[in-house]
Amino acid sequence: MTRRVSIFGATGSIGQSTLDLIKRAPDDYDVVALTGHSNIDALARDAIAVGADIAVTADETRLTDLRAALAGTGIESAAGHAAILEAADRPTDWAMSAIIGVAGFEPGLRILRHGGTLALANKESLVAGGPLLMRTAREYGATILPVDSEHSAIFQSLVGEDMNAVERVIITASGGAFRDRPVADLAHVSVAEASKHPNWDMGQRITIDSASMFNKAMEVIETKEFFGFTPDEIEVIVHPQSLIHAMIGFVDGGIMAHVGPADMRHAIGYALFWPDRGHVPVERLDFAKIATLDFRAPCHDRYPALRIAQSVMETGGHAGAAFNAAKERALDRFIAGDIGFMQMGDIVDGVVERLSSSNSLNIAEMTLDTIKDIDTRARRIADEIVDT
Ligand code: NAD
Ligand code: MG
Repeated sequence: MTRRVSIFGATGSIGQSTLDLIKRAPDDYDVVALTGHSNIDALARDAIAVGADIAVTADETRLTDLRAALAGTGIESAAGHAAILEAADRPTDWAMSAIIGVAGFEPGLRILRHGGTLALANKESLVAGGPLLMRTAREYGATILPVDSEHSAIFQSLVGEDMNAVERVIITASGGAFRDRPVADLAHVSVAEASKHPNWDMGQRITIDSASMFNKAMEVIETKEFFGFTPDEIEVIVHPQSLIHAMIGFVDGGIMAHVGPADMRHAIGYALFWPDRGHVPVERLDFAKIATLDFRAPCHDRYPALRIAQSVMETGGHAGAAFNAAKERALDRFIAGDIGFMQMGDIVDGVVERLSSSNSLNIAEMTLDTIKDIDTRARRIADEIVDT
């Protein structure tokens, strides 16, 4: 039986890995929509390769280019945020949410409304609006499957388990590009250095977030929002080999660890074939060659993001939306060369604190509009902090 699938963020790192799996079994899928941003050539090439119904670029200025690239193929083309939302309204059985940033949130909400399966790589959705996303899935009978490697690992380790028997969850972190640099040097590291991940091949933004551990901070919040763990049940451990992705600790002292190669096609494939398991062409691990697995406690001076995540979870409400937006803006400004690497933490701290002390984060009901409002304010405050 063919399944209708769409990929939001098809031209990115996760999108390309998803397409790699889909292209291996073209008869199994009926591709509805592919979306991208500025890489029109890749978007058009893949839309043609998989015979998509529609290709959408988020960048309105590129519609003419996309149309030209798809001329004569019969594939529809469209551009802009509204067109992405329209594509998300097209029913599918399975859709990949792999847009980077909070821009992926609204398309995800729309996808949930037709009750299918949302494979969620876009962690920003859970950080900025976890309660709204989870509530929407429940209301429409839709399924969310985590695609972040740690969360896929947790999900897989919990199959068949009683949540009452679980006492802790440990997510691993590679430590990122600067794990062995003296903390004193971190103020002066370059964007190029921060963009090199020791283990994973990912988009630039998440790679820099791995160096600062803002990525791990987001994943801690993601763990709370998706699985319902309390902040004190969630631990982070630095594991430089990135082979164990997460571990679940049970009340009897037993621990289930999920081990796999650092290749996102495993987690994507798990979500694609769930509830079954299908063949995924990732490297098979050879433990004799690996020989050792190392672990160390994360240093909070090096990674202030982890402490900030704790306070965001304690504050609750819209603190996640403020945190996510401030982080996105601080990252923009770091990439633009306006601030140093360690200033990102100071900015995020400052934004969350300012919004929290003005009582802006405890709005009773969470809606798309309240999240957008906090997001806009947080970005403005982040810019104010940088520019004054
Ligand atoms: P990426 O930068 O490689 O790709 C991002 C995709 O989003 C591209 O298709 C791009 O065209 C599109 N995009 C960018 N801005 C957009 C906008 N404003 N509106 C619509 N589309 C836009 O990113 P990635 O590394 O593939 O990450 C995608 C998501 O998956 C992120 O939320 C990330 O945190 C998450 N994730 C990624 C990995 C990984 O290995 N790369 C692992 C776990 C989770
Ligand atoms: Mg991850």
